[in-house]
Amino acid sequence: MTLANVHSIETFGSVDGPGLRYILFLKGCRLRCAFCHNADTWDLNSDDQRSADQILDHAERYRSYWGSEGGITVSGGEPLLQIDFLIELFKKAKQRNINTCIDTAGEPFTKEGEWFTKFEELMHYTDILLVDIKHIDRNRHIRLTGKPSDNILEMFQYLSAINKPIWIRQVLVPGWTDDIEDLKKTRAFIETLSNVKKIEILPYHNMGAYKWEKLGMKYPLEGVEAPDQESIVLADKVLHGEIR
Ligand code: SF4
Repeated sequence: MTLANVHSIETFGSVDGPGLRYILFLKGCRLRCAFCHNADTWDLNSDDQRSADQILDHAERYRSYWGSEGGITVSGGEPLLQIDFLIELFKKAKQRNINTCIDTAGEPFTKEGEWFTKFEELMHYTDILLVDIKHIDRNRHIRLTGKPSDNILEMFQYLSAINKPIWIRQVLVPGWTDDIEDLKKTRAFIETLSNVKKIEILPYHNMGAYKWEKLGMKYPLEGVEAPDQESIVLADKVLHGEIR
């Protein structure tokens, strides 16, 4: 039995996947997104460890609210860092006929070795993924997150090849991710994929800045304001191919 390193649980999530959902936030992330509002999830260690059955028994208390579309979403941090637990959780969730969703940035993805075999297995039990495009430009991705995006883009291509439904989400940060030409490149990439069910803009906010300070780190986006409505609409149109 594998135990999850849990960060927190939200029992009524309405934005992280279809319908109303039970959201499990796991610990651990190796990206360092400048806009991260969950810096307290980065450390993989947790005092709160739970088994798949404990999570599912708890989640099922809210089942009557899920309707035909809802279910459970595992988010983070980066949930794919705990892939052994995810396989166990989702395998059992499917036995209980629960809809399963992963909210990931794809950082651990590799097409090599044992990890990929595990990912293939996990996809058998996964109904949908919410995947972030942090930045389409490789160098700006590194500047924004601390790591290159090659394996992440490879994950998008793999998910398209197996026709696994995804929602794509782009955090819109003024001066960082709102360049129209870059957004057009993101749109061009999206058009190469056959499995995209939804594209969402997530407007940047600085509500997690205090967590950086609490952890003794300087918040990298000090002074950056939330995007205005006009630029959100513009970015949304570009990503949906309505402006080219
Ligand atoms: S992937 Fe998510 S948890 Fe990890 S640093 Fe980026 S925003 Fe934060």
